[in-house]
Amino acid sequence: MKKIVVAIDGFSSCGKSTMAKALAKYAGYTYVDTGAMYRAVALYAIDHNLIDADNIDEIGLNKALNDIKISFITVDSVQHTVLNGVDVESRIRTLEVANGASRVSAIGFVRRALVALQQEMGKEGGVVMDGRDIATVVFPNAELKVFVTATAEVRAQRRYDELKAKGEEQPYADVLANVQERDYRDTHRAESPLRQADDARLLDNSNMTREEQFELLKSWFEETIA
Ligand code: C5P
Repeated sequence: MKKIVVAIDGFSSCGKSTMAKALAKYAGYTYVDTGAMYRAVALYAIDHNLIDADNIDEIGLNKALNDIKISFITVDSVQHTVLNGVDVESRIRTLEVANGASRVSAIGFVRRALVALQQEMGKEGGVVMDGRDIATVVFPNAELKVFVTATAEVRAQRRYDELKAKGEEQPYADVLANVQERDYRDTHRAESPLRQADDARLLDNSNMTREEQFELLKSWFEETIA
């Protein structure tokens, strides 16, 4: 059976990766977390003093791009991001790196480098890729395109609960502000702003359980491959 490309785009903290991973497991496909790739670039920039609260050293970052090698490994059935040979999975999940990722992802040369890598990863099909521009830029011919959303408050609450569970509790107001800031940057940037592709199916999960969303996604997948 032909292995298709499933493109899942949407706002931050809307549960894209949870459902993308579940679908990849169900279908026997490879899951590609493109947000983790932007986070890895941001972490590199932080570690090499190429980014601070106000500025990004774009010349330095452009020069460094060839030295940034990103890959994925599986540890105890969980995908981990590897940056230059080091497992950085927990380091890339902080609010600081999330913010950095949202900023470096607005830079054209960063996007072009990562998009090329993502296209290479998915060229044989059999992938579930999640991000912001998968259906619009990376794989505009993906057989199944899904755009996921939920209200900013619902997403902030989920993110707050996740951080708390990891012992990294932050005030809810800060988490909500971070979600709103990233939404604004993702939808207003000049390079590949986040938008629903014309032929993408909309999945608003504000009032859905994980099981309900997965059932819906699975039914779209089955319909597409049939
Ligand atoms: O999905 P995640 O929150 O991990 O992504 C981190 C940041 O990377 C997002 O805020 C977004 O700005 C950026 N991103 C992007 N394009 C993608 C995936 C993520 O611009 N395909």
